[in-house]
Amino acid sequence: MIIAIDGPAGSGKSTVAKLVAQRLGFAYLDTGAMYRAVAWRAVQDGLDLSEPLAASALERIRVIAAEEAIDFGYLPGEPVASQVFIGGQDVSVQIRTPEADRAVSPVSADPGVRQALTSQQRNIGRSRDTVMEGRDIGTVVFPDAELKVFLTASAEERAQRRAIQNAARQGTSFSEQEYERILADIQRRDNYDSSREVAPLAAATDSVELDTTGTTIERVVQQIVDLAGQKQGHKQLGQQRGAE
Ligand code: C5P
Repeated sequence: MIIAIDGPAGSGKSTVAKLVAQRLGFAYLDTGAMYRAVAWRAVQDGLDLSEPLAASALERIRVIAAEEAIDFGYLPGEPVASQVFIGGQDVSVQIRTPEADRAVSPVSADPGVRQALTSQQRNIGRSRDTVMEGRDIGTVVFPDAELKVFLTASAEERAQRRAIQNAARQGTSFSEQEYERILADIQRRDNYDSSREVAPLAAATDSVELDTTGTTIERVVQQIVDLAGQKQGHKQLGQQRGAE
């Protein structure tokens, strides 16, 4: 079974998707981390990612997406995989930097990059029950996913969550300036992701839309787990009927 969780930056996808995977015993795949890893590698290669991208830069990022292995690993005691490797190098921290935030949009807008990563995501999802989070899982990667969820929240709330998350990660305190920077970045990426030509961010017509503004993570997780239970029940019933 595939549970597709799509939505804009900071909508709570990662936290929710990890908990749902944990509760159901499913694998978890963060497809945004794959785009971030390719973008990070491109930056390391010294590519100029200002738009429009030069043909040579495009060619190189497509090679990275097609040929550099992206792997996921478990941190000690972690129930779902959140460590990210590209070409064998652990880039879990680097891909969350503001530099990676900036580099990822032009990289993820390229059809060649998307094709390479979409194909890897399908292979991973076909191998076992997976909760997959991203922007285009329910619309492009797995249009037949048994359950599709589109998470939203106001841009302000999303920026606030990210600012708190980053401060906790870096051991610093919440800063208004950092909040403003993140809000501007989120609004920029929302626009970019929603208006790009290939696989734009959009809710699949058959997705369940959940607004996470002002609600608890636990509540959203429970809603998705319940929906998954219903879908699984229907599937099993269908299989039983087929066998009768
Ligand atoms: O989910 P996250 O914010 O880490 O994703 C980083 C970027 O990767 C997004 O802003 C988007 O441009 C891109 N992305 C995408 N398709 C996905 C997942 C992420 O285009 N399925």
